[in-house]
Amino acid sequence: MKFEFCREDWVQKPCDVLVVALDDDWAQRSEFQSLDQASSGWFRRVMQSGEVSTKPNKVSMLIAPTGIPAGVLCIVGTGNASQSACNTYFRAAGSAMKALASRQRSTVRFVGFGNSPLEIRAAIAGALVGSQGQDLYKSEKSTFAPEIVEWTGSNDAQIRAGEIIGESVNLARLMVNQPPNRMYPETFTDQAIEVANDAGFSIEVWDKQRLIEERCQALLAVARGSIRDPRLLILRHRGAPPDSEPLALVGKGVTFDSGGYSLKPTDGMLTMKCDMAGAATVLAIFNAIAKLNVRRNVVGVLGLVENLVSGDAFKLGDVLTARSGKTIEIHNTDAEGRLVLADCLDVALEEKPAQIIDFATLTGACVVALGNDVAGLMSNQTQFQVDVQSFTEKCGEYTWPLPMHSFYSEQIAGKVADIKNVGEGRWGGAITAAKFLEEFVQTKPWVHLDIAGPAFLDSAKPWCDAGGTGFLVRSFAEWLLA
Ligand SMILES: [Zn+2]
Repeated sequence: MKFEFCREDWVQKPCDVLVVALDDDWAQRSEFQSLDQASSGWFRRVMQSGEVSTKPNKVSMLIAPTGIPAGVLCIVGTGNASQSACNTYFRAAGSAMKALASRQRSTVRFVGFGNSPLEIRAAIAGALVGSQGQDLYKSEKSTFAPEIVEWTGSNDAQIRAGEIIGESVNLARLMVNQPPNRMYPETFTDQAIEVANDAGFSIEVWDKQRLIEERCQALLAVARGSIRDPRLLILRHRGAPPDSEPLALVGKGVTFDSGGYSLKPTDGMLTMKCDMAGAATVLAIFNAIAKLNVRRNVVGVLGLVENLVSGDAFKLGDVLTARSGKTIEIHNTDAEGRLVLADCLDVALEEKPAQIIDFATLTGACVVALGNDVAGLMSNQTQFQVDVQSFTEKCGEYTWPLPMHSFYSEQIAGKVADIKNVGEGRWGGAITAAKFLEEFVQTKPWVHLDIAGPAFLDSAKPWCDAGGTGFLVRSFAEWLLA
């Protein structure tokens, strides 16, 4: 699929499919007027008939439109545009593309998707997301990306930037969608090296031996139940002078989570290939920022393990010594992500970052609290939290703060060790997980994003196939580009 800027008059130039976004106020839109004029009133009659809905993400295909040199005129609704415009255009473009991707097309032209550069990049990313499905191992493919996508109301540089961001979102989705027998710490590492070489950032790989030397005992304990050795990856993008403090991005990469001896039931385990979505998110953000030549120093730390059961697996009641020296009592082996992150955060601190952001499919409790469309946002610094919340919302990806009062820490006080890896009972589970992580960031400004809900779709949406979503890749690529 190739993106091009359409320089000619979009309504006169022939194409296979002309995709036009229209909101509830369609009669006022210049796109409507152009179509109405070119079709000598036919398009007005179509819209007045009420058969074409402008409700958000409704797609209508009009075959052989009168007076318009397109095989299909595709109208996608954007509703009353009261939500975040980036979210609206991302979803509308994705919905149109997903509907069109049911068969092979040559030239598809998008008109009326966004005004600001941020909105246009969001819409282009949406189109890319709609063009890729999870049919990775189907003998008959069900999703076909068009050969050429033409974009109006923009320029070449904008389109290229949107394309890079959209491809990065799809990279995160592809990583998550790969099954756990193919995606494990070693193969994740191989793919990450390929991404790093292609995008042009550096990557350092810590294997099991190095992890032992580096005293990553919390991470190693989680990995012990699997015959697949763990890895820790350090990614570095150098876009600023060496003395400029980097931003650190940390990702949870549990390539499969059985829960360990605190075994998950079948229903809860079935989609646990997505437990590496945090690591995939960070890798995808690096792909974007390296290709966009972001002028910041950024370091990424990814902890890759598989959490299984064996005669050597870690047990309830075990006491681990994390890399930072803190001792941890294990009360639940399914609360393993925070153990992996504890050592990753400690490694990240050594890079002397200005700030740390971690991404993790950490708790079911966060999904209970906020649902599937909003990530939990927890921080030790109010302004940093406010900045992240407002920026992600502007990009159309929602994050929402949960409280971090000091009394929550009492719940993770250990009996024989410094801390334990779960709170008392199940209440406030997303927060006690964050309080656990806070023990490993010292006083660095830090934001924790619990993406357990929005990282994965159990069933398809009009704009995105089921499976990985690449949630927050777009926001943080934009955050670093801004
Ligand atoms: Zn778990």
